[in-house]
Amino acid sequence: MSLSTLTSQLTLPSPLQPFTPDWPGAERVKMWVKRDDLIHPVISGNKWRKLEATLSALPETCRSIVSFGGGYSNHLHALGYACNQLNLPLTALVRGNYTFSMTPMLNDLTAWGASIQFVDKKTYAKRDDADFHADIRKAYPDALVIPEGGSQQSALTGIKKGIEEISQPFDIVLCPVASGATLAGISLAMRRHQKAVGIAVLKGQGYLEALVQSLGASEAERWMIDHEFHFDGYAKCNPALADFCEHMSETQEFAVEPVYSGKLFYALRTYLERNVFPEGSRLIIIHTGGLQGARR
Ligand SMILES: *Cc1c(COP(=O)(O)O)cnc(C)c1O
Repeated sequence: MSLSTLTSQLTLPSPLQPFTPDWPGAERVKMWVKRDDLIHPVISGNKWRKLEATLSALPETCRSIVSFGGGYSNHLHALGYACNQLNLPLTALVRGNYTFSMTPMLNDLTAWGASIQFVDKKTYAKRDDADFHADIRKAYPDALVIPEGGSQQSALTGIKKGIEEISQPFDIVLCPVASGATLAGISLAMRRHQKAVGIAVLKGQGYLEALVQSLGASEAERWMIDHEFHFDGYAKCNPALADFCEHMSETQEFAVEPVYSGKLFYALRTYLERNVFPEGSRLIIIHTGGLQGARR
């Protein structure tokens, strides 16, 4: 199928839904959830936004794709499906060895015809090094290499476009932060009076700010990262967060998972309790999708 056929199957612009939980402090502000999780059952959330520009401008010489991720990676999942639909061979370099413990995500990749190569953690740590990339180019000369999470400069365009879909006036946009590309893209769309607030989902004080800056979000007054809600690290969870996610999924129109959106909405509930936003603030919360990653 062509990219335009694939794109025609996506729900774009994604819906913007009012959010009125019965949380203390919620009545003082106005909130909407930008449902990027509804863009597509598989290529959902920020992963579609981040891949859009790359897939629309594949170099003439590109005959296949090589990319990276963990065993539950939302990025590899979205990319694997897209490559299958577009008839582009994908090689997925996966951190760790899941030969005898295949995850649902890896089983999907296999079903979609991707070639999965398990990479030990030491080698995987070199995924952004020039030497390692030279080796990949030698092994896959006609491949386009997409970094982990799809987080490259070109990813920012699609993220920014998502914010430009919002016609409703707003003051603050909230999103989760892992590689920083989503926050960087959002911050590019902020006007002078607006602010993007990122909730770090991993321990990365300083490091995450540097990532966002290196992606080109230089106007530091337009964004910030809160490091209070990472729950001790990437994919780490505790009973309070697990209960919160379960309760959210039962009482709201949408589900959240503990890796990304759960931490985001947990932070939001805490902010409302503490009255951190001026009365009447208009908040947009980006639901970045990722529910497949919670399958076990
Ligand atoms: C990848 C991912 C993120 C993190 O986005 P970054 O651009 O890497 O900061 C957030 N939410 C979900 C659901 C994701 O899959």
